[in-house]
Amino acid sequence: MKTIEFKAWLGGMAHLSRGQRDLVREDMAGKVEADLGVKLLEDSVTDTPSCPHCQSQKLYRWGKNAELQRYRC
Ligand SMILES: [Zn+2]
Repeated sequence: MKTIEFKAWLGGMAHLSRGQRDLVREDMAGKVEADLGVKLLEDSVTDTPSCPHCQSQKLYRWGKNAELQRYRC
């Protein structure tokens, strides 16, 4: 959305009823939680994968499950 369109859309918020504003607030809260989940996943990806149990970085391929490569330390 272009900035000018966003400002017009945002200006329209003033005309919403209290119930409509509550709906917008609830919807946005759900989106913020989804964004936090994506950030947590992105932060957990590192250049040097390691075992979550012993933190070893010596990993070996260990078959596949649901098309995803599995590893073993
Ligand atoms: Zn391990």
